[in-house]
Amino acid sequence: MKKTDIETLEKELVYKRKNAFREMPKSEIKKAFAFSDDYKKYLDSSKTEREAVKTSLEIAKKEGFNEWKSGEKYSAGDKVYLVNRNKAVIFVKFGSAPIEKGVLISAAHIDCPRLDLKPNPVYEADNMAYLDTHYYGGIKKYQWVTLPLAMHGVVIKKSGETVEINIGESENDPIFYITDLLPHLAAEQVKKTLADGISGESLNILIGSEPIDDEKAGNAVKLNTLKLLHDKYDISEEDFLSAEISLVPAGKARDVGFDRSLISAYGHDDRVCAYPSLRALFDSENNKHTLIVCLTDKEEVGSMGNTGLNSSYLYDFIEELALDSGANPKTVFRNSKCLSADVNAAFDPAFAEVYEKNNASYINCGLVVTKYTGARGKSGSSEASAEYVAELRKIFDENGVIWQMAELGKVDIGGGGTVAQYVANRNIDVVDVGVPVLSMHAPFEVVSKLDVYSAYRGIKEFFEKMI
Ligand code: MN
Ligand code: MN
Repeated sequence: MKKTDIETLEKELVYKRKNAFREMPKSEIKKAFAFSDDYKKYLDSSKTEREAVKTSLEIAKKEGFNEWKSGEKYSAGDKVYLVNRNKAVIFVKFGSAPIEKGVLISAAHIDCPRLDLKPNPVYEADNMAYLDTHYYGGIKKYQWVTLPLAMHGVVIKKSGETVEINIGESENDPIFYITDLLPHLAAEQVKKTLADGISGESLNILIGSEPIDDEKAGNAVKLNTLKLLHDKYDISEEDFLSAEISLVPAGKARDVGFDRSLISAYGHDDRVCAYPSLRALFDSENNKHTLIVCLTDKEEVGSMGNTGLNSSYLYDFIEELALDSGANPKTVFRNSKCLSADVNAAFDPAFAEVYEKNNASYINCGLVVTKYTGARGKSGSSEASAEYVAELRKIFDENGVIWQMAELGKVDIGGGGTVAQYVANRNIDVVDVGVPVLSMHAPFEVVSKLDVYSAYRGIKEFFEKMI
């Protein structure tokens, strides 16, 4: 065969992952960078699930979304939201087709790994005051020491009054800190494994060292700290009993690299899917199906509890939408389709041994479709049907969405779950799609701007074109 024939054959028969920098027109790359600037702002004001709900609501209200009312009749183009316990939120844009035709859902989680305060957190040790934490989600504990930490959360007083806490993000704020052992004295510590070098119980937050101005006072540093908290927030130690306060890495999302093609931030997983989902919903036009974006909580701890997608809150809501328009909810579920919008592990050349190169996701290669999660025999996962994946392939390819397909890591190494299995259990077609992330679950994770934009493009095309 001639060389040109081989080239034609290769082009026609061999599948090659696309690089967004090569495929996207310059004008679209520019749009992607602008989109990322908005995304960074969203990240900076959404460091907890409660903050993400609040920020999302603020944007949605400007887009014309109103609070959903049970029993109300809605028609095509109406936009509503339902907040679940201030930690999850559902946005709906009604379509022109009857709801029996099914709804299209993009579900992303807005909780992230972090350090939560224990119920009785405050203590003093050797003239320093500390807060005791219980970490949330899958973290590598050694990554959380000697970092500037910010405190975010709420204290709900007995009166029901909410006190919002947000300290450490402004340049004038103090930050909080967890100490580590100096190398000079760490001969024994450094022999431990990464898992054991820093224990969960030693993740204690340094919050002060100044004693209260009275030589007779016991625990004078703790008392001084409590007084400062009382002066500023009108709370006492007992109020921590009904508080939800988290320590997260302080600081804003930043561009990475000379070319600024990447973003480092706390909490890409999974706000990097939440924000594109929202924007895709807002920007989608002439939608036939009713569109739903669900920003959910508790994915990082198995989607448990009444704000996680293993509970019935989303499905109950869809059921009410169905009943309010005279439809059978079971028919609606059966005809519905969902993108479980969640991140995948981007191939990292520094740790190549845990990936299988042909089936890993790559930075700048666009939206990742993950047909199934789980590990070691696909256990504990739901798998999207080939039929559903084919429908998405067609939509993405016909509309210039850059996308790739991947598993998470080598077969025997590990894996992870998403909300997909819980959605699938309700007889809804579901597949994982998302953005490849470097250093997932680290205090600062990294994503590519073109991948963030590809996620937006993909979800928007799904909303507009899915039959
Ligand atoms: Mn996730
Ligand atoms: Mn995660």
